[in-house]
Formats: sequence, structure tokens, C-alpha cells
Amino acid sequence: MIDYLKGLNDKQREAVLHKDGPLMIVAGAGSGKTKVLTTRIAHLMASGVDAFNILALTFTNKAAKEMKERIEHILGNSDARNLYIGTFHSVFARILRSEAHRLGYPNNFTIYDTDDAKSVVKAVINEMNLDDKTYKPSNIYNRISSAKNALVGPIEYANDYGLQQEDLRSNRPATAQIYDAYVKRCFKNGAMDFDDLLLKFYELLKHFPEALSKYQHKFKYILIDEYQDTNPAQYEVIKLLGAMHENVCVVGDDAQSIYGFRGATIENILQFQKDYEDAHVVKLEQNYRSTQSILNAANEVIKNNKGQIPKDLWTENSEGEKIRLVRTMTDNDEGKYVADTIQEQKLRNHYSNKDFAILYRTNSQSRAFEEALRRMGIAYTMYGGTSFYSRKEIKDFVAYLRIIVNPKDEEALKRIINYPARGIGKTTIDRALLVANNQNISMWEVLEQAQIFGFKSNTLEAIDGFVTMIKSFSSMLKNQNASDVAVHVGKQTNLVKELFNDKSTEGVARYENIQELLNSIKEWVESPDVDETGEVTDKGLGAYLQQITLLTDADDKDPNADTVKLMTIHAAKGLEFSCVFAVGLEEMLFPNAMSINSKEELEEERRLFYVVVTRAKARLWVTYANTRYRFGQLVQNEPSRFIDELPDQYLDRSFAGGGARNQGSGWGSGGNSAYDRMHRGGGGGWSGGNSAKDAEKLYGPPPSKKPAVPSYVTPKPATPKVVEHKPSE
Ligand code: ATP
Ligand code: MG
Repeated sequence: MIDYLKGLNDKQREAVLHKDGPLMIVAGAGSGKTKVLTTRIAHLMASGVDAFNILALTFTNKAAKEMKERIEHILGNSDARNLYIGTFHSVFARILRSEAHRLGYPNNFTIYDTDDAKSVVKAVINEMNLDDKTYKPSNIYNRISSAKNALVGPIEYANDYGLQQEDLRSNRPATAQIYDAYVKRCFKNGAMDFDDLLLKFYELLKHFPEALSKYQHKFKYILIDEYQDTNPAQYEVIKLLGAMHENVCVVGDDAQSIYGFRGATIENILQFQKDYEDAHVVKLEQNYRSTQSILNAANEVIKNNKGQIPKDLWTENSEGEKIRLVRTMTDNDEGKYVADTIQEQKLRNHYSNKDFAILYRTNSQSRAFEEALRRMGIAYTMYGGTSFYSRKEIKDFVAYLRIIVNPKDEEALKRIINYPARGIGKTTIDRALLVANNQNISMWEVLEQAQIFGFKSNTLEAIDGFVTMIKSFSSMLKNQNASDVAVHVGKQTNLVKELFNDKSTEGVARYENIQELLNSIKEWVESPDVDETGEVTDKGLGAYLQQITLLTDADDKDPNADTVKLMTIHAAKGLEFSCVFAVGLEEMLFPNAMSINSKEELEEERRLFYVVVTRAKARLWVTYANTRYRFGQLVQNEPSRFIDELPDQYLDRSFAGGGARNQGSGWGSGGNSAYDRMHRGGGGGWSGGNSAKDAEKLYGPPPSKKPAVPSYVTPKPATPKVVEHKPSE
């Protein structure tokens, strides 16, 4: 066993060694919170606590996996695989698989992803004859989601004066009714959405004392990373689960709370000490991640927020390079600048691709960076793009698998009932849905008994063929493994053949994707784990589907690949990189246009800025563009107010025309486009690396004079109509 206490500072050691009773670790970025949590689990296990009795909740499944590996490494055995460790959603889903029947759900319930859920909301809105422009499904879905995360059910929602006023103000008085119908529909379909995984688990603990007692006994130790981003539903669940042993250890940083828009509340941190009066509190103040320049700048920025728990974060690390502030002419120039700089840094300082991260406020900013990196031949991984599992062909295939596991799953059924075409047209589908709603049964049950509902005879034949086929697949599941069933489904439905015959480039790619899916099912089946009873864990199709639905975007990518990482700041929580580009530091973008009118939201944006700055270990670039295309329009934004909050002494402004905000954002004032920079060359050794000639190839010939504002530039900053407010999930 590795001496896991060696190298920890006194405070870290104190937190690791604290054995029983509530423990809260509040500490700034990079102070070893996650390291302490991991070491603490290893310590508990080394002191004889059974892994089966430890519940650890992390921000991503990938983080959980890394923690497990680290613990195995420390302990020199593989006991850690028996830990209940993962995101709130994945751990609770796993438990609900064996408990859902108590709540009236089938244990093989389907998990609806956000697309499925929105589609149900949309269907409900249409059935209620409401206008889906007023009642935009995604808005309504967000409201429902917020309500669920605040443990507000449809009845409470309908009775809440404040919520009703808000709906009236936005001219959507029927929201409560939609919520109610949505919940009923999901229940009828045997489906839970993401929020239900928390809510239903909470209801299970709340209303079934037997279940509560079972899990209270089981989870003798509970540990939670990133506690500042828990929402009320998560908070209540932990309170219930931890009530028996009170061995609850939470780790967080109020300055990094960035999910307020999704209902997370830092109140949970403050509340912890009220809930557990004898809670032991440990503060970690030494940062091991960043240079002094980066850390000090971050500390100064966050001081502008009121209402923070005071922390004094310091580091023994070297002073390091100053933060480079970079101004470019356009968003494309910003992309080129970043790609050029990565190339140059790799040569100059021997970095590899994986040492770099480009972190932005919204996913839509990725394009310029992707293009530039591709052009330079720099390998990158983008998080938050279209993931493998959201591709159409994969969703179609997976819909078949879902139906086999849970035939009540209406979303899956609608998707494939006539794909590939089998003569069940829209009229028939609409009719089946109508009957299902009138009779309050599932669409599948309507199809099963189609003859009594008066469908035409040729339609009946098609329906019968479909039902028989799905039933034959379901019965296969009883004695064949998930992989064999999936291969069989591919053949019988002609799905694979259809794609195989499509020889277009897209068709070939789609065929390969299906093969990849089949491979992944096979791998899953062939990699059995054992659970606490020594049984091989559930390798059924249902468990497979659950796992892929709950994969967060970060989970299906290899973090060790030698690629530049592109992601939103939200997704970068908890991560660290040698070199970070914090890009798009412009008013309306960051801080986001949606957030500048309220103090609370602005403070959340500032915390987001604190998060991005503190991801960097050695070098940080903060970039902004004079103009960029947003929503199909060229807009001109002021540099972000957050730039002004970075103290001058830690800042190298020589790439921003000597000033940021105060300097004005006019085209003529600075002459600091990527173009100009490349032509000046040299300049402190950072912008060099490309000759003027190379630059000309990239950016065209130099202008003879400072450019006037081109006619296509919108003279005043345009206020974007729609602004992406949520990070992708
Ligand atoms: P964040 O707030 O970003 O989640 P954190 O507080 O969880 O950060 P960690 O990620 O655990 O911090 O640690 C930051 C870095 O510091 C890691 O590379 C970690 O290995 C290192 N580190 C932490 N404690 C020590 C220590 N005592 N000695 C050496 N390195 C340490
Ligand atoms: Mg951490």
C-alpha cells in the first residue's frame, strides 16, 4: 500500500484522518479538495470500512472512474470497484432499478434524455391545443425541470402564487396543467426523465421507511465532491440518507458555484453547519495548481463578489508568466491566434497537445477554434458537440432496444414504428396515440389489441407484423445476451442492411456507427463486474441502455488522448491544464447578455470567470474579439468587464493594444488584430514563430492603412435576441 498521508499538508491530513461525524471542507480552487476526498475514501477502506458501505458522489462519471483508479492504486487492490461511486444520477438510477416498483414504475423503466422529455412536452402541448410558439416546449421543459429540482410537484406548482404569477406574466397560464399531464404521461410510458432520478429516489426514501432504513444502513459513509453545485433535491436526499450515521463529508468551494441557473444553491454549504451542529469544518488554503500570477489574479477577481466565504488562498509555486491579454479583430482571428499560439508553444516550450484547453462561455463559440486547429493539423477533442449517442442512426437503433426492454416507451415506439417503412402511416399512429390517451393505456397496448379498436384490415396486418416482431425480440432477451439480441435486431429489422446498401459517404459513416454501437454492446457484455453478493452485475440490455443514457459528454472521451481540449467552462469544472485559453471575453457573451441585469446572475458569471482562470497551471491567455458573428449577424462587443478586474501587475497587455476596455473597441484605435500581430512578429517572444509571409498566407495581405469600419459591420453592439444560457449537458 502506498503511504497516502505522505505529502499531504496538515489541514489535508486532518480532513483525511477525520473518521466519524459530519465533515465539511470548504476551500478555494486547486487546494486539493478532490485529492483529499479520494485519499479519505482510501483511508476509510484501509481502516476496515467495507467499500460496499461507502457512497461517493462526483460531478462526472469520468471523475468517479479516475477516483476509483486512484484508490486502487493507493490500496494496491481492486476493492474500490465495489464502491457506490458516480454522479447523483447514475448512482440513484442504479438503485431505482431494483426499487422503482415500490413507486408503481416498472423496474425496467426507460430513462428519457432531454430530447425525449422535450418531445413528450411538445406532444402534451399539442394535445392540449396550445400554441407551441407561446408555449415553447424547451421553455416549458426547463420550468418543469426547475420545479422538480426544487421538489415542487405539479400540485404544489399549481398552488404556488409566485409561480402562477410568473406564468401569467409570460402569458403561459397553462404551464401547471402541462406539468401535470407531462408527469402522468411519463408514468404511463414507464419512463423517468433525468430530474426524476433524483425526485423519485427522494420520494422512495421519504415515503417508504423500509427503503430508507435499508439505504441508511448500507451507506455508512457518504462523500460528495463539488457540493456547492447541489440542488435542493440532492440536498434533501443526502440529508435523509445520512441521518442515521451522520458520516457525511462534503467538499466544495462557494466561489465556484456555477449551476445556480439549474437550481443549485450555495445555501447548501451554509446550511450544512446548521443541520449538523457538531460538523467539523476544515479550510484548505494552499493552492498546488497554479502560478502566483494566476492565483493572485483569480483571488482579486472573486473579491468583487459580495457574499463569499472569506478564504485566503496562497501558493508556494513560482510567480510564473503574466497572463496574456489578447485582442483580435474577429472571432476567426481569435481562432487563428489560438491555434498559432498552441503551435508555437509546442515548439518553444515542448508542450504536447493535451497540455492545452480552450474554454468558452457557450458551445457555439467552438467553430472558429475547430476550423483553425484543423487547418493547422492540431488534434483536438471537442466536448459538448453532437455526441455519438445523439446521432440519428444510433438513436433509431437504440429505440428498438428500448422498446424490447420496455414496450410502454412511447417515445421510442413513435420513432421506429414505421422505420424502416412497414406501412404504418401517420394517420394510424395518430389514431393509436389518441386511443391510448382516451383509454389511458400505453400506445403499445393499443397496438397489441389493435383489432378491437377498429383499424383497417391492411393496417391491422402491418401492426400485427410489427408487434409479433418486437415480442419475438423481447422473448429472446430471456435466454440470450444483450449483444446477440442486438445483432439479431439489426438483421431482422433490415436496419443494418439498409445502411449497408447506402454507399454515400454519410451512409458508410452511418453503417460504421451502427457497427461501433454493436461492438460497444459486445464489450459491455464481455466485461462483467461483480456486485456485493459476488454475483456478476446486471449485464442485461436494460442496464446497458441506462449506462449510455447517463453518460455525460465527458464520459465517452479519452482524457489521456494527446489532443487539445475544447469545452465550455461549465464542463471544465474540477479539471486542470498547463495552458488555458479563456476566450470570448466580451460583454454580452461573457458576462452573458442574459445575466447582466441581475446582481446574482452577474456574480455567477464572475464565479464562472474565476473557474476558468483557476483551471490554468502555468500559462493563461485571455482573449476577445472586436467583432464576431452571432445569430447570423456581425456584432461588435465591448471587452468584458471582467478583464478590468484582472490587476495590471499580473497582466501582459502588449497583445491587446496596451489597453482593454478603456482603450475603446474601435477598429482604428489599437491595430491589434491577429493580422497586425503576425506582421509585427517578435514582440516579447510570444507572437513570433510565424514569418510575415506565413501570416500573409493565412490572413491575406496587410492593409495599407488602418482599416475603416467596413460597411458590413453593425455599428452599434447589437443585442442578441436569443442567448444560449445553459451549457450543453
Ligand atoms: P478544484 O477546486 O478545481 O476542484 P481541488 O481543490 O479539487 O480543485 P485538486 O484537483 O484536488 O484540487 O488538486 C489540485 C492539484 O494540486 C492537483 O494536481 C493535485 O494533485 C495537487 N495537489 C493537491 N494537494 C497536493 C499536495 N499536498 N502536494 C502536492 N500536490 C497536491
Ligand atoms: Mg476538485
